[in-house]
Amino acid sequence: MIANPYRKAHFLQSASNLAQCPVAMGGEVAFAGRSNAGKSSAINALTGNRNLARTSKTPGRTQLLNFFQVDDGRCLVDLPGYGYAKVSKSVKRQWDINISEYLRCRKGLRGIVLLMDIRHPLQQFDTMIINWAVEAEMRVHILLTKSDKLKSGAANNIRLKVCRHLQEANVGDLVSVQTFSARKSEGIEQLIDTLNKLLESTKS
Ligand code: GDP
Repeated sequence: MIANPYRKAHFLQSASNLAQCPVAMGGEVAFAGRSNAGKSSAINALTGNRNLARTSKTPGRTQLLNFFQVDDGRCLVDLPGYGYAKVSKSVKRQWDINISEYLRCRKGLRGIVLLMDIRHPLQQFDTMIINWAVEAEMRVHILLTKSDKLKSGAANNIRLKVCRHLQEANVGDLVSVQTFSARKSEGIEQLIDTLNKLLESTKS
């Protein structure tokens, strides 16, 4: 078992745009994904703290960036779930503006964890985030979530397919992929290891 520094994460604050974000004290990693991709469940499983994910699901906070501080100012940032059926076009447009501004301009952003339901990988939103990140030379770690829904061979085949697709798209070493199941607590150590590496340069 590797140590899990993310169990110490606690809610710091919410922000609706870049200007409202806390002063960047240490590095941060943003969690992004379509609504229902399993982001809250993954954050729960990683931190062992149900209250964190609940924070992001609190009415009024679902459209906000929620900052969870780990230590020394390092943060995990839960971005609003993309693709809410119920929000209007103008809210979606505002999401695009606020989040793309955060992703482009946020000092201290070290990488993105992109969550995709293993049964529906690489949808339009996912590809948009990957393309943007590669252009900005930002690292992306993909979690193929709910892998328990498939047999392990089938889940691994999808992982390989996604990797092949990314190779063909020439993303180089910037993007990595793993399977993940919050329900079965599978893939947590690999996620911890990746987060540690992304945030390493900012550890004091
Ligand atoms: P979010 O909208 O991205 O935060 O997604 P949630 O974490 O709320 O999960 C959406 C749905 O997927 C919920 O019904 C969860 O119970 C389910 N879910 C999330 N993670 C897993 C998982 O690892 N395995 C299975 N089978 N279901 C999951």
